[in-house]
Amino acid sequence: MTLTKRNLRRLVLLSSIPLFGVVAAFGIAPDTPLKDTPVQRVVLNLPILNISQTNDADITLWQQERIQRNDSVASLLSRLKINKQDKSKFLHDARNIKTMRRLIPGKTIHAQTTATGELLALKYFPGGNKNLLVKKINGTFKENKSPLNIETKIKMKSGVIKSSLFAATDDASVPDNIAIQITEIFASDIDFNRDLRKKDHFKVVYELRYSNGEYIGAGRVLAAEFINKGKTYQAVYFEANNKEKGYYTPDGKNLRRAFLRSPLKFSRISSGFTRSRYHPVLKKWRAHKGIDYAARKGTPVRATANGTVAVSTRQRGYGKYIILKHRGRYSTVYAHLSRFAKGLRKGKRVSQGDIIGYVGSTGLATGPHLHYEFRVNGIQRNPLRVVMPAAIPLTAKNIPAFNKSTESLMIRLNMLRDTNLAFLD
Ligand SMILES: [Zn+2]
Repeated sequence: MTLTKRNLRRLVLLSSIPLFGVVAAFGIAPDTPLKDTPVQRVVLNLPILNISQTNDADITLWQQERIQRNDSVASLLSRLKINKQDKSKFLHDARNIKTMRRLIPGKTIHAQTTATGELLALKYFPGGNKNLLVKKINGTFKENKSPLNIETKIKMKSGVIKSSLFAATDDASVPDNIAIQITEIFASDIDFNRDLRKKDHFKVVYELRYSNGEYIGAGRVLAAEFINKGKTYQAVYFEANNKEKGYYTPDGKNLRRAFLRSPLKFSRISSGFTRSRYHPVLKKWRAHKGIDYAARKGTPVRATANGTVAVSTRQRGYGKYIILKHRGRYSTVYAHLSRFAKGLRKGKRVSQGDIIGYVGSTGLATGPHLHYEFRVNGIQRNPLRVVMPAAIPLTAKNIPAFNKSTESLMIRLNMLRDTNLAFLD
């Protein structure tokens, strides 16, 4: 990134006004080498330290604390060094605020305090569009109902897979949340637990969210491209209404298919392609009639499609296993589970992506892995060779709007492609 003279002058101008309280910070790592990429200017709120004031209590600052597993609001307030009085007042006043009861480990709590530990305001962004601001007004903590001003910036990144997906997204400074979204977007086409290959590459256009200039997290993936084993998959986000929203190919086909490619959700601890093969069991499809996923004991197993539980029992060979019956002639089998999901029983309806059990090594298994079968009319088939029922396409009346919103996203994605060709390989 380059600072233009004009921007530089502005930066100098701002920094020469100390009481302005605002600085223009350039470069939230815009390492995409695009000439046309707008320079990102983020305005950060800094505490105004007025030197003429001598009373420490008048100086306020925003601090933040990362939520740990098993944290409570009380433990967070203690770490933020909130004084006893405000701590108990806050716990009392905020006891009915729902968002406050759902603390998500890894997210951050922002607190505005004085030097003496008085709590003035508290902000929490649990993700999605949710945000919470609690302010002390006349000595009482109240939820500020007016929505926070969320500013969205668009970011573009690309990367090449060298060892694992997360190694590549880390290299490109792509947030985990965005990496996971990419795997979910293409979940009907790519089995990220088995299909990743060296030199696969991705391009992604996504949102970054800011509130008062403060970064609060990654938003939604707007467009993505994944080249897997030489095949290009593209996706753009489109929302016409509640029913018609999600990811589509640039020509309007729905990316959501009846079946997910993998019964295991991709995660940071997923093995990736280097350790994805489970050796002890027969490798050949014809002999084996199933797909084995090596995974840690306890890894959640999800239904690859909507259906009902036809079998959930224990058997010598399969160990604890589940058969799901799907629409038409399809069924799926999940074997060697350590346990079933709570409440799972014969006849229960499940939706695509629902957790139905957990990886284990029950039955004839030499180590923890999931044995997955895809059956057509009760006969094991290779899901790769079966033409999957297509999902509902866009309705004709929404196509003009789709084309309009897709155009600019595709331009961005293609820009990324052109500039990156030079340094791939
Ligand atoms: Zn198997």
